[in-house]
Amino acid sequence: MSSRPGPIWRASKITLQTWEISYHLKRTRRRRSIALRVEPSGAVTVLAPRFALSHFVERFVQSQAGWIKKKLIDIEELRKKHPPKEFVSGEMFSVWGQEYPLHVVSDAAAVSSRCEWVDGRLQIRLKESDGLQARGAVKDLLCEWYARQTEGQLKESVPALASAMGVSARQVKVAEQRKRWGSCSRTGNLRFNWRLSMMPRPILDYVIIHELAHIKAHNHSKAFWDIVRLALPDFKERRTWLRKNGSAATRWD
Ligand SMILES: [Zn+2]
Repeated sequence: MSSRPGPIWRASKITLQTWEISYHLKRTRRRRSIALRVEPSGAVTVLAPRFALSHFVERFVQSQAGWIKKKLIDIEELRKKHPPKEFVSGEMFSVWGQEYPLHVVSDAAAVSSRCEWVDGRLQIRLKESDGLQARGAVKDLLCEWYARQTEGQLKESVPALASAMGVSARQVKVAEQRKRWGSCSRTGNLRFNWRLSMMPRPILDYVIIHELAHIKAHNHSKAFWDIVRLALPDFKERRTWLRKNGSAATRWD
């Protein structure tokens, strides 16, 4: 067996009038055509066949400049809409797509710190020793709270949607999955991102239906999307919303 050379990565730049695009060029043996990817972070990757001529690659990037620029402007706007969190009183947090204020109080008598829902706001009660690293403590408590909300809703929604679709999930768990909203193992175990309770409930339904459909089709074939469409005729709008807003709406750092 011969060992195949891996992909070649190279940082490149292209200047269009007054605007400069920095991108990473990834050359691989398997690719047959040139493609572009703009990550939610704003990083631009150009995927090219291993032996594609450089000027072809550059011309391709130039031809897509308008599209890249639009994507980067969208990312910048989302960043402004969802600035990094500070985890302080008065800051707004999204719960099932609605914004609520955070209220942090320090409680010298409290045995343990906790997060609770009080009069339409998220209240964090910090025990004295946690006050020293408040930001980290608030963040951890909120993370647990969101995970509980996601879990509670999954307990209700997964069995209902599964029976409507004629499938059954073996195990349902909430997990830390930075890059995925959900996953389905070959044996039918489902994992969901704890951040899902930050988003509107219809988005969670889409993610659940998507993973349940994988129990029947373990790929993203046309047959798979037909199963999703049958259960959720407007899945495309929800998928688009999730792709566009999902990572920015749930990003904390
Ligand atoms: Zn999938």
